[in-house]
Amino acid sequence: MELLKNNILEHAKVIDERILKVDNFLNHQMDVALFNEIGKEFKRRFQDKKITKILTIEASGIGIACITAQYFNNVPVVFAKKHHANNLDRDTYESEVYSFTKEKNYKVRVSKEYLNAEDKVLIIDDFLAHGQAACGLLDIVGQAQATPVGVGIVIEKGFQKGREKILDRNVPVESLAIIESLKNNQVIFA
Ligand code: 5GP
Repeated sequence: MELLKNNILEHAKVIDERILKVDNFLNHQMDVALFNEIGKEFKRRFQDKKITKILTIEASGIGIACITAQYFNNVPVVFAKKHHANNLDRDTYESEVYSFTKEKNYKVRVSKEYLNAEDKVLIIDDFLAHGQAACGLLDIVGQAQATPVGVGIVIEKGFQKGREKILDRNVPVESLAIIESLKNNQVIFA
């Protein structure tokens, strides 16, 4: 997706060989016109699939997922929560996720009210790195006995192993920009 790649080249900051910062248009300030194009592109790539729900993870996935949902007949967006409210979130599906960027484990939770066995779920996230977040969401879809229809990613770091982990579960992955390398302070696309 050229518009996305141009934004990455113009605004992204290479933090080190593993991490890209995209606060200018995706993770802090959000470029809504770009999000609209991202939503259209996800629709184009998953157009033959029947989708009843979009599942994402807080916080950065939410904006992208909401705009994308408008291209899928306004299906509901459910986001996995990273923080637990003791007496409010009792009946939940949950999965443990390891964050390589934060170097710690955290739990993600979705209320059993909002995912069920009839659901056909498109998972959306901002980044795919080692696949921990996406696999945590796939675990939750499995616990609900719902069907994972696909995983849609805005930026994939192709030099990490996330894609393989998702494909191992027989779920298709579509990434709108795939980065091959961040070496020498440079973004190289696949
Ligand atoms: P994974 O779970 O696939 O290892 O990592 C994906 C999650 O970690 C995404 O939800 C994203 O929030 C965060 N992440 C991983 N790598 C990067 C990166 O290079 N830049 C940013 N901004 N977030 C990242």
